[in-house]
Amino acid sequence: MKVILQNLTKKFPSRDKKKQEDVIAVNDFTFEIPDGKLIGLLGPSGCGKSTTLNLISGLLQPTSGKIFFGEDDVTDLPPENRGIGLVFQNYALYPHLTVKQNILFPLQNLKGKDKLSKAAMLEKACEVARLVQIEELMERKPGELSGGQQQRVAIARALVKMPRVLLLDEPLSNLDARLRLQTREEIRRIQRETKITTIFVTHDQEEAMSISDMIVVMKDGMVQQIGKPQDVYDNPDNLFVARFLGTPPINVFEGQVKENKLYIGEDAVLSIKGVTNQEVYVGIRPEGFLLREDGPFTCALRGVEVMGRDISVVSANKASLNSTIRSIIATEKKVDIEGVTVRFALVPRKVFLFNRETEERIYFEAE
Ligand code: ADP
Ligand code: MG
Repeated sequence: MKVILQNLTKKFPSRDKKKQEDVIAVNDFTFEIPDGKLIGLLGPSGCGKSTTLNLISGLLQPTSGKIFFGEDDVTDLPPENRGIGLVFQNYALYPHLTVKQNILFPLQNLKGKDKLSKAAMLEKACEVARLVQIEELMERKPGELSGGQQQRVAIARALVKMPRVLLLDEPLSNLDARLRLQTREEIRRIQRETKITTIFVTHDQEEAMSISDMIVVMKDGMVQQIGKPQDVYDNPDNLFVARFLGTPPINVFEGQVKENKLYIGEDAVLSIKGVTNQEVYVGIRPEGFLLREDGPFTCALRGVEVMGRDISVVSANKASLNSTIRSIIATEKKVDIEGVTVRFALVPRKVFLFNRETEERIYFEAE
């Protein structure tokens, strides 16, 4: 089921006596979520992710704009008539019911022609329990389960009615690091098997990048960029997106373009074409640095961290906005750790320029 958001806007009245303007939690969203895909809604806390999800679920009514599921305008439908499954960060299971009863619960509320026999309900519950691999836990109560198991039960409960759209709001945030990794792979597998259009909300860029077919990067209620995770990483539209994606994060410098050369401080680090003389921000991905004894970019060496396959060279430069510069170098390269400075050449496609005022991307051609 494809989901279309059309000029979707949600304003909340300000509760702040000094600042009377409304909070625009979701500002004019227009995009289409393709059928059968897993979409990651990604952005820092407070950027409007949960509000967007709650508008799609019907728990909130938009201030303006429309929502379509396929051809159906669902904007005025109550949540129970939209055919959605919801999973939240805090599992929200009924503590006094067993796992089986929790999963059966949405089916027991079906009325009229949708009403199912006991046997049919049980069959559906067992089917989703198998899908999320909790068949052996059916008689337990939520209090007797680990966080990861509870979240699987919540997912099973959301899936048991075979929703048209599955909505997950930070579903992994309460799990420890290892379970988080495992459960996110499970969610990916379940989504592939069921092919239910799924919207996955997270503030964790790595999580979103690793499981999404498409990511929507948000900031302050506005969509910043939409695309395949790798494409957005390789081609950020603005400085915010460039900074939000990637670990270690992108290194940002103050720089200047002068006569077809890109300068960071006194160093002419790249020859470029197609950019008029101006001050810019320069973003360089950690993998964009090459160790070269005669490299044009000189930094103060701060240390070397061994990470197995790669090493991370930590350095500093006056023009850097980050307190340290992190570059990832293959271990074959030897770094003189006694050295005071380190010199780099740059990989042009790992270097991005941004306008100093608007922070929008400036495209250049490498010489
Ligand atoms: P996220 O899920 O990305 O952390 P939210 O969608 O929860 O962000 O919130 C977006 C913005 O809307 C925030 O500034 C938040 O304070 C505000 N907001 C959310 N819900 C309400 C509400 N019920 N009343 C007033 N403001 C709200
Ligand atoms: Mg939220």
